[in-house]
Amino acid sequence: MSEKVDTIFGKIIRREIPAEIVYEDNLCLAFRDVNPQAPVHVLIIPKEPIAQLSDAESKDHALIGHLLLTVKRVAEQLELAKGYRVVINTGEDGGQTVHHLHLHLLGGRQMQWPPG
Ligand code: AMP
Repeated sequence: MSEKVDTIFGKIIRREIPAEIVYEDNLCLAFRDVNPQAPVHVLIIPKEPIAQLSDAESKDHALIGHLLLTVKRVAEQLELAKGYRVVINTGEDGGQTVHHLHLHLLGGRQMQWPPG
């Protein structure tokens, strides 16, 4: 069972701190990263928090699918027709710093491989 988490992203969901929101529905929120690593850098988060991807359970499968389809929707909205990268940092080795599951949508420049 995953623990309920409250992070800075919870404050953004509750509008306690500002964010540049680009998309919202009943399940998720998408807003611009405060420290962008590409011309377009948006975070897509579930409103009902899960700390990290490795805490997701079978019951979350529709939500996880919805988050990915929201990435596609936001990428279309922001005209990333040439492509983009989706990143989910997970846990310590994954470099995760905010413990509320989030998908990074990065675009507007040529991405490199491998990532750091
Ligand atoms: P991660 O390192 O994968 O956990 O990513 C956390 C991301 O959240 C980083 O890219 C931060 O720049 C971003 N971030 C932290 N605080 C805020 C905030 N208040 N508004 C928007 N993005 C934030």
